[in-house]
Amino acid sequence: MPETYSTDKSFALQLDATDPLKHFRERFHIPTQNNQELIYFCGNSLGLQPKSTRAYIEQELTDWQHLGVEGHLHGKNPWFYYHHFLTESAARLVGALPKEVVVMNALTVNLNLLMISFYRPTPKRYKVIMEYMAFPSDQYAVENQVKFHGYDPFDAIIELTPREGEATLRTEDIQAVIAQHQNEVALIMLGGVNYYTGQLFDMEAITRFAKQCSNDIVVGFDLAHAAGNVTMQLHDWDVDFACWCSYKYLNSGPGGTSGVFIHEKHAQNQSLPRLSGWWGNDEKTRFKMQKGFIPQEGAAGWQMSNAQILPMAAHRASLAIFDEAGMEALVHKSKLLTGYLEFLLLNGKRKDFSIITPADPAQRGCQLSIVMQQNGKAVFDTLTQQGIIADWREPDVIRVAPVPLYNTFEEVWHFADRFHSA
Ligand SMILES: *Cc1c(COP(=O)(O)O)cnc(C)c1O
Repeated sequence: MPETYSTDKSFALQLDATDPLKHFRERFHIPTQNNQELIYFCGNSLGLQPKSTRAYIEQELTDWQHLGVEGHLHGKNPWFYYHHFLTESAARLVGALPKEVVVMNALTVNLNLLMISFYRPTPKRYKVIMEYMAFPSDQYAVENQVKFHGYDPFDAIIELTPREGEATLRTEDIQAVIAQHQNEVALIMLGGVNYYTGQLFDMEAITRFAKQCSNDIVVGFDLAHAAGNVTMQLHDWDVDFACWCSYKYLNSGPGGTSGVFIHEKHAQNQSLPRLSGWWGNDEKTRFKMQKGFIPQEGAAGWQMSNAQILPMAAHRASLAIFDEAGMEALVHKSKLLTGYLEFLLLNGKRKDFSIITPADPAQRGCQLSIVMQQNGKAVFDTLTQQGIIADWREPDVIRVAPVPLYNTFEEVWHFADRFHSA
């Protein structure tokens, strides 16, 4: 990390020239307008398309075309086993053992499936701790799981709120809430990175603290904004379960498939209720069409339907790129890139804004959330007209995410330049 950043454009060009990951940008389709490449800082919402994606999908279309149903066993990548091809790479991304991970379904579907198994309320212990203003899909999922078990969401859901005058949560405050409710909490369900503020939670400290309070507290994370953005060690941290989508930082296409983590300690636990289907059954007897569900060991045993080959093919293309680049190198560049953006934002002429994302690099990924004091939407619209794709959240937030795989320091410089003059 450089001692100091500089506002000179030449500094940005120099960082790009020495960036060991710079060639990865060529692997992506960069959206254009009037033949000009747009500055795309929306990889936290929908990641860009790898140029290799088409070939991965075409391979499956070709096998379907030529083999029909035979593709299940005789395709180049037999569909019967297709999820296996994703498991190891997906596990690396979140710091898990392969048997702890499976790719299937979509994110909110998985969140609901996992809560069926891991939210097991009792009359004494039925509460759920989550973030205030969690992503709406997570709010709705938790609210309805609570109702499904006959509890009142207003009573059962404990929301973590920042201190007066602060925008993000302090780990010690999260722990204090856990301690206060330690005898009635069944589940802690947080985002790994909050979608709105960009805050990365200390998942390890939160999980450890919760387990110290009571082994009956289950800890799960929604990693939609963490997977492919930050490094994690879910296995070592003793997280019970997690799920994430593949279309944000993981560049696997709109509505893409989802990843699931279930800690090894639950792998053989047959007493956990689960919603089940044939794909979670032991592969040796899956096509025998017999009575009696025999779950596969580990996360794969939570599968229900046969694999969605086309979105999984897109995901596979993207995971190959992550394997090649490596999360450590990506995070190293990400910290430089985001730090540079922060520096340029704070050292320009515009002062009518604040950054609510934590300034501590250990508490964020590559997103910065900028709160505008006035005319925020007008500034955002001007930036859009100037070829910058960022994200607007009512009432006053611009979210910007320079991602290390395909964004450049020069783009960050241009963004800041236009932001200060917009
Ligand atoms: C993006 C996102 C979702 C979206 O869920 P889908 O089921 O993929 O539509 C859910 N939760 C969080 C925290 C997200 O960031």
